[in-house]
Amino acid sequence: MANHNLGRSTAKGKRKILTLLIFSPHPDDLELSCGLLCHRAMTLGWRIVEIVLTDGGAGGNDLRVYHTEKLRQKRMIEARYGASRLGVKEIEFWGYADSKLSNDLQPAIKRSLRKLRSCSPAIVAFPNSNDNHADHISTHRIAMSVLKICSKKIISLQYCFWGKDHTQNIVLANPAGIITKEAAIKDHESQPIDRYLHKLREDGSLADGDERYYSRNLDKTILAMSGWGFDVHRLQRQTRV
Ligand SMILES: [Zn+2]
Repeated sequence: MANHNLGRSTAKGKRKILTLLIFSPHPDDLELSCGLLCHRAMTLGWRIVEIVLTDGGAGGNDLRVYHTEKLRQKRMIEARYGASRLGVKEIEFWGYADSKLSNDLQPAIKRSLRKLRSCSPAIVAFPNSNDNHADHISTHRIAMSVLKICSKKIISLQYCFWGKDHTQNIVLANPAGIITKEAAIKDHESQPIDRYLHKLREDGSLADGDERYYSRNLDKTILAMSGWGFDVHRLQRQTRV
């Protein structure tokens, strides 16, 4: 499993390629919540893997196409475009029903455990329990279940796009990734992009070029991520609303 010394020179002078694994409840969550994280990992030469748990069939403004194969296919294409801009080379669509992920928790946990063991990530990102969306909360439960079983050395970062997470304690700064993140969000043409960008600008994250997460083991996380080349800091709450 993950080792904090990975990414540094080995005895033979070679650098191991580190893996970042993102759990996305829906096809656009990586871009919205982890775009800058992925962009930075990409520039550092990491392997980035995304799992999209639901089929995205209940997203967007056009209710007439909800739960149609046409929308599901479109969202997969959008996700591939968006994620590829941010360095994702491996993306899996698990196809659980959008908005009903709670019905498939057990199979999703089993599958996630196999995936975690096979790809040995150094960092795993997934939604926080303070998120408003039911599928995001289900994804949080799935990720927490497998992380309990797997190595404690894995760094976990929890994001929260829908809702207010007052527990966020870490800031990742990556202004160089803003343009790419925004372009990746715009790849999701079937979704309310203007609303997304407005929300990101409103909370300051897009303008400031940072993303905020919650990490259970803050000191260890900052130390490890800084060592890997990420620009991470403690969240200074007084500067945020
Ligand atoms: Zn989502």
